[in-house]
Amino acid sequence: MSTPAPSVPNAKRLEGKVGIITGGARGIGEAAVRLFLSHGAKVVIADILDNLGEALCHELGEDVSYIHCDVTNEDDVCKTVDFTVEKYGKLDIMYNNAGIVDSLMPEILNTEKAKFERVLGVNLVGALLGAKHAARVMIPAGKGCILFTASVASEIGGFSSYAYSCSKTAIVGLMKSATAELGRFGIRVNCVSPYGVATHIADGLLPVEAVHFEGLLSKVGNLQGVVLKAEDIAQAAVYLASDDAKYVSGQNLLVDGGYTIVNPSLA
Ligand code: NAD
Repeated sequence: MSTPAPSVPNAKRLEGKVGIITGGARGIGEAAVRLFLSHGAKVVIADILDNLGEALCHELGEDVSYIHCDVTNEDDVCKTVDFTVEKYGKLDIMYNNAGIVDSLMPEILNTEKAKFERVLGVNLVGALLGAKHAARVMIPAGKGCILFTASVASEIGGFSSYAYSCSKTAIVGLMKSATAELGRFGIRVNCVSPYGVATHIADGLLPVEAVHFEGLLSKVGNLQGVVLKAEDIAQAAVYLASDDAKYVSGQNLLVDGGYTIVNPSLA
């Protein structure tokens, strides 16, 4: 029996919406930029990789803009939101996706305070600032969608470093607090939590025998034995950002092929 076609094939699920994607210059963020655009959204890429971000804008055309924004710098985040509203008239979607990792290993004795704070600064404080300044314009508008990129590390012990796991677990707490506070203003808040995706996030951190991140991941595998692609995560973000998810808020959507259920702790 053939699979039934979706009820609205090729629908532009984000038509008319305006979004900011932090960390949109490459990786999962870049895939989200491309997919949001193909679904009819206008997108502002907020990143520190100016060359990549500007090249992406150049490639994708006038519905995509780039702004230099270090998410740990509140002035940058504030300016990014103001730039978006000035240029496109509003902000519907704030996708707090920028993130870094310091180590793939959960080793407390090798956990350095400065690196721990740096990871929390980008992954958690950066996400907080994005949510805060998005709420500043979404509350008066009476609507909006705030997304965070957490990780399966928010659910599984031992998936990555202490800093990374703590930052991603705390993002889920941030998401829940924002859901509780902002729902009455018509603002939905959710997380997307990817399993491993072959991006540049772990460059320089892999064991020497791991020729490629994808090779490492395929050894771990998820339920289907398939390696996730950045676009698979972006698809979940499009769903949560769209009106298809208009009653979905306060959720941590794991895109992991069921991995977290069968591996509740790696520690
Ligand atoms: P990536 O390194 O390819 O992309 C991360 C992006 O964030 C880059 O464009 C980078 O320049 C940007 N960024 C980093 N620091 C920033 C800062 N201070 N201000 C603004 N932008 C900054 O990695 P990715 O895998 O695409 O990561 C995207 C998100 O997905 C991250 O939050 C990451 O933690 C999360 N994630 C990734 C995986 C994975 O396996 N790749 C798994 C789970 C979660």
